[in-house]
Amino acid sequence: MGVPGPVSPDGTVLKCVNLGWGVFNVEQEMNRLTGFKVKAGNDANVAALGEMWQGGGKGYKNLVMVTLGTGVGGGVIIDEKILPGAVGAAGEIGHIPMRDDETETCGCGKKGCLEQYASATGIVRLTRRYLEAHKNENVQTMLKEDSTAKDIFDAAKLGDKVALAMVDEVGLLLGKALAAISCVVNPEAFVIGGGMAKAGEILLNVIRKYYTEYAFHAARDTVFKEAELSNNAGIYGGVRLVLE
Ligand SMILES: [Zn+2]
Repeated sequence: MGVPGPVSPDGTVLKCVNLGWGVFNVEQEMNRLTGFKVKAGNDANVAALGEMWQGGGKGYKNLVMVTLGTGVGGGVIIDEKILPGAVGAAGEIGHIPMRDDETETCGCGKKGCLEQYASATGIVRLTRRYLEAHKNENVQTMLKEDSTAKDIFDAAKLGDKVALAMVDEVGLLLGKALAAISCVVNPEAFVIGGGMAKAGEILLNVIRKYYTEYAFHAARDTVFKEAELSNNAGIYGGVRLVLE
């Protein structure tokens, strides 16, 4: 099972704020309740494992999956296995610190995290801020205060300059963050998924552009793939955990 919180390698959940869970061993507890053998991992990590096994990352043994949805999730796969980290917090890409000038607080309690900009809610916020800061300048754009992430990408595809600038900003932050990740784990591929990835090439191209600019020279040619399993990625990953 995939759990929306950090899970250590022995199955201990270290607080899962979304579900109101404290600290306990979810594998043992689910085994007690169902009689089945249970393997658990962080949901984004398990999804990354699923994509490696049967999805967009098929054929690669070392990859980093990035899920661009309401927030930014991530999973690191090394030698076909999840890299959980000491307490299950590896792959928390969304909370890589990116900016020092942020005034609003992220869901994690810090300020300036990647997911405050590079998620569906993030690009909406960037756009709202931009429109607010330039409201007296008669900016030519089809975007409004209540534009959604999809509206912004659609406008960018039509050439709207403000929308293109917002997509560029998101691509810059993601490209830079992935270049930093690549300096640490040097994956063969990045697999990009999540609702916002449905924007397609326009987003992938700009992420790839900035990644190439910021990546260490030897890691500049890392492959970018689109995720293929959508919400089923976690189910595939869960099965793979048990098969291991
Ligand atoms: Zn955060």
